[in-house]
Amino acid sequence: MTTNPIIAFKHVSKSFEDNGQLILRDINFELEAGKFYTLLGASGSGKSTILNIIAGLTDATTGDIYLDNERINDVPINQRDVHTVFQNYALLPHKNVFDNIAFPLKIRKVDKAQIEKRVLEALKMVRLTGFENRRIQKLSGGQRQRVAIARAIVNQPKVVLLDEPLSALDLKLRTEMQYELRALQQKLGITFVFVTHDQEEALAMSDWIFIINDGEIVQSGTPVDIYDEPINRFVANFIGESNIVSGIMIDDYLVEFNGKRFESVDGGMRKNEPVEVVIRPEDLRLTLPDEGKLIVKVQTQLFRGVHYEIIAVDDLGQEWMIHSTRRAIVGEVIGLDFESEDIHIMRLNETEEEFDARIEEYVDEEIVEAGLINAIEEENIKD
Ligand code: ADP
Ligand code: MG
Repeated sequence: MTTNPIIAFKHVSKSFEDNGQLILRDINFELEAGKFYTLLGASGSGKSTILNIIAGLTDATTGDIYLDNERINDVPINQRDVHTVFQNYALLPHKNVFDNIAFPLKIRKVDKAQIEKRVLEALKMVRLTGFENRRIQKLSGGQRQRVAIARAIVNQPKVVLLDEPLSALDLKLRTEMQYELRALQQKLGITFVFVTHDQEEALAMSDWIFIINDGEIVQSGTPVDIYDEPINRFVANFIGESNIVSGIMIDDYLVEFNGKRFESVDGGMRKNEPVEVVIRPEDLRLTLPDEGKLIVKVQTQLFRGVHYEIIAVDDLGQEWMIHSTRRAIVGEVIGLDFESEDIHIMRLNETEEEFDARIEEYVDEEIVEAGLINAIEEENIKD
């Protein structure tokens, strides 16, 4: 809970009139002033629609939107103290750099001397001092992007919205701009809401990430939270290649998978709750077979530049992906070791009934088995 959010969404949903399909479902969040927020999600998940609702480019169908504690649902675009940076930059191609950046100030009828001062400051911020008279067409992609950013900050809005602003840049420039944008945001102390479909970008830049899937926030947290504790298969798949196997949370801190029980650092689930177990490829270490927690046979090995990517299969036919700086030999039987902190537990998205049926089946087998063993042992003792 944020005491004084700069932006708040309360039960915001959106459907477009043409087909009535729900594009956003019950979006709720509060953004703290001065932070770097990222909306991360696949194409079509609803990220741009969220930004457009903040900017006033489109309406929410239901729900309330607040900017600095004022409800802004009915406030026109030009009276919202936010500025959007679009992927295609949306610059005026026939005007020079100065006029492009001055544009929002001219609309607001700021006096000439102030405009000049602020434009030159903004240019300095984006490291384009001396470019004021250049034509937009004479600029590189990266320079255009900087002009668009300078225009967004020149008016010192409360919030800057950035809709995939780096995706048109090549990888090197993109990485550079990631650092620059982050540094700029920290220097200005303005709230940034940044949209990307690139998880690494989101992890590198943000104070806080919202993962959007199919019009819903499916997870939110700091980059470290997001990376460490995927809450469901969607998030895990999204966040990186992971090994995901079915397991059973026997009790707090005890999980069973691959027919064996392992200490875990997770608790708070029901006893014998079916779960999915996630272990990242880089958390699996190669050992001798009798020293490993799992025993696997190497199927394939690829050199990925820094590490080997090894696919190995266990005796139940489950494949495991391992990232290791040590190489293995195809066909070799090896052990895999990991720490209990490397086991991430995800609860399943299943209905109550499905859950009960599963548990019943599992518990029955367990009890029957345990009962049989006891019975046999008792028989033996009697004998
Ligand atoms: P993202 O930015 O995450 O790629 P968008 O917010 O642009 O996703 O779009 C979310 C969904 O809304 C998509 O399925 C898209 O087709 C639909 N959509 C976006 N704009 C409109 C519109 N003006 N009319 C109808 N459907 C739209
Ligand atoms: Mg978009």
